[in-house]
Amino acid sequence: MLDADFFRRWMAAAAASVDREAGRLTELDSAIGDADHGSNLQRGFAAVAAAVDKDAAAAPGAVLTLAGRQLISTVGGASGPLYGTLLRRTGKALGEAAEVDRDQLARAFAEGVAAVGQLGGAQAGDKTMLDALLPAAEALGSSFRGAAEAARAGAEATIPLQARKGRASYLGERSIGHQDPGATSAALLVEALADTARAGGAEA
Ligand code: ADP
Ligand code: MG
Repeated sequence: MLDADFFRRWMAAAAASVDREAGRLTELDSAIGDADHGSNLQRGFAAVAAAVDKDAAAAPGAVLTLAGRQLISTVGGASGPLYGTLLRRTGKALGEAAEVDRDQLARAFAEGVAAVGQLGGAQAGDKTMLDALLPAAEALGSSFRGAAEAARAGAEATIPLQARKGRASYLGERSIGHQDPGATSAALLVEALADTARAGGAEA
């Protein structure tokens, strides 16, 4: 079972990963955006890690809801409200249970991903974070590691796509041939989840 501390460790692992990969995320965003995705998420997840560490929330849902609120209030770019919505809606779907299992998380995460789609109006294949999040949500029903692999494969599969949402869509065909920064960071988030599960012996 996954308790509030597991979710705090996930957010800390995500913050560390975003910090390590910030340069790469910004490089990807400089090719098809405005070169701020790494710094946006670095600032956002640093605030998330600090907030969930300070807060004594006893429920997984409360940890994710707090994390989502932090992202919305600290990240100015498109990705802040989108990731904020992902975590807030996932947290809300988890409710007040003190512990949840992977299946419950998979269902809640799928609701969070659907909310990202509603907010941003993007669909699979539009070359956005959803191209990593949608396959991850589906695979999370089977395993943490499978979700991480699906997210990474989904991010890599954005390379040949033409962007239809967000800043990259302004480039039209020139967005083809570059990996989407948001899909890349989404894969980092899901990989951090799988790493946290493995470290805690929760892999199944
Ligand atoms: P901004 O585009 O405002 O500079 P970021 O650079 O932080 O924000 O984030 C860009 C990423 O956000 C994109 O790579 C894409 O994955 C994601 N994104 C942008 N618009 C949308 C949308 N409408 N739906 C889903 N994801 C989106
Ligand atoms: Mg940007």
